[in-house]
Amino acid sequence: MSIVYLNGEFLPVERAQISVMDRGFVFGDGVYEVIPVYGGRLFRLEQHLQRLARSLAEIRLLNPLSGEEWRRCLQDLVTRNGDGDQSVYVQITRGVAPRDHAFPKEIKPTVYAASSPLRPQTAEVAEHGVAAISLPDIRWQRCDIKAITLLPNILLRQQAIDQGAVEAILVRDGLVNEGAASNLFIVKGGELITPPKGDYLLPGITRDLVLELAAAHAITYREATITPQDLAGAEEIWLTSSTREILPVTRLDTHAVGNGKPGPLWRRMTSLYQDYKQGVRERGEAPAA
Ligand code: PMP
Repeated sequence: MSIVYLNGEFLPVERAQISVMDRGFVFGDGVYEVIPVYGGRLFRLEQHLQRLARSLAEIRLLNPLSGEEWRRCLQDLVTRNGDGDQSVYVQITRGVAPRDHAFPKEIKPTVYAASSPLRPQTAEVAEHGVAAISLPDIRWQRCDIKAITLLPNILLRQQAIDQGAVEAILVRDGLVNEGAASNLFIVKGGELITPPKGDYLLPGITRDLVLELAAAHAITYREATITPQDLAGAEEIWLTSSTREILPVTRLDTHAVGNGKPGPLWRRMTSLYQDYKQGVRERGEAPAA
């Protein structure tokens, strides 16, 4: 049975209840994090907690727990769910109040965390890669905030799935920024390129780790804007996220990427990433370098 954390209590998911007046339910007024767990250890926890603190500050919500309280709470949740590999979801909403757009005066945030099984990448993906389509980015101007308000992302992802792809790669003002739920890398002239951080993409934790691994292993990389033409002519395309790790895109829209197989730099980076994960399982978190 799955155990969740809700407002200071651990309880079976079936018993966890929130009010229909919660602003998360009514407005999508909240932020979230997704943290992978390997061998019972929360992966890149400090980076996830920092991003959570930033998202909260950007929507003007006080962080309800201290760093130490978060660490204890989430590790406790992981243990109560049997350690091993998991995906931990954390959500904070502005809380329960009569419906009004303006911030309520006296309000306590709703704090929720849950765990679900984490499925490893399949051999099928490593062998064949995945398909993606490019679509106009219909989201808002603050994609750097990990907001629970995800309707555009949902519509974009579903459009990709309806066309037999796994992800939508989003284009705005002539630039390609990221996927509907992932960051984007391309390989061009042998060099690894990812768009710089900014308002139009989420500062991904997996993105940062890939760059750290590249730096530590002398793989040349650049943070630079990517145009749809760069994307169309890329030797390799990768999508990164905490739960899907590094996905090789081998089909974009109607064309094969490179020779239509996951590329050599993807193989190298995925192997470095798996080694890093294994190190975390065995010894806990350490810098990539
Ligand atoms: N961009 C978006 C829009 C996302 O939803 C995600 C995953 N939640 C990412 C990028 C990847 O971020 P991370 O590596 O921290 O999971």
